Amino acid sequence: MLSTFDRDGLKTVGTLKHPDAEENWDEYHPNGTTIWSENAPIAVNFHPYNRCTIHQCPECSTVYLRYTEYGGYYVDERIRVVKPELITQTL
Ligand SMILES: [Zn+2]
Repeated sequence: MLSTFDRDGLKTVGTLKHPDAEENWDEYHPNGTTIWSENAPIAVNFHPYNRCTIHQCPECSTVYLRYTEYGGYYVDERIRVVKPELITQTL
């Protein structure tokens, strides 16, 4: 759980949602990572990053990706610090 920062203080700076993009629920894990892996690639054309919004902390400029999953009984918010070296551009 992330409880050490004020997520409501984050500033929305953009989105990875593409209005023209086809729905894509596939994940991209060429190295056997999972959605929860620290080192999972941030593949912007793949789930869940293709549904993320981009946020920045006004104090330290850390950039976060946020994705909200709507399940049958729950709303699950995932938030992840962006590490530039993990960003993967795939087509
Ligand atoms: Zn900060």
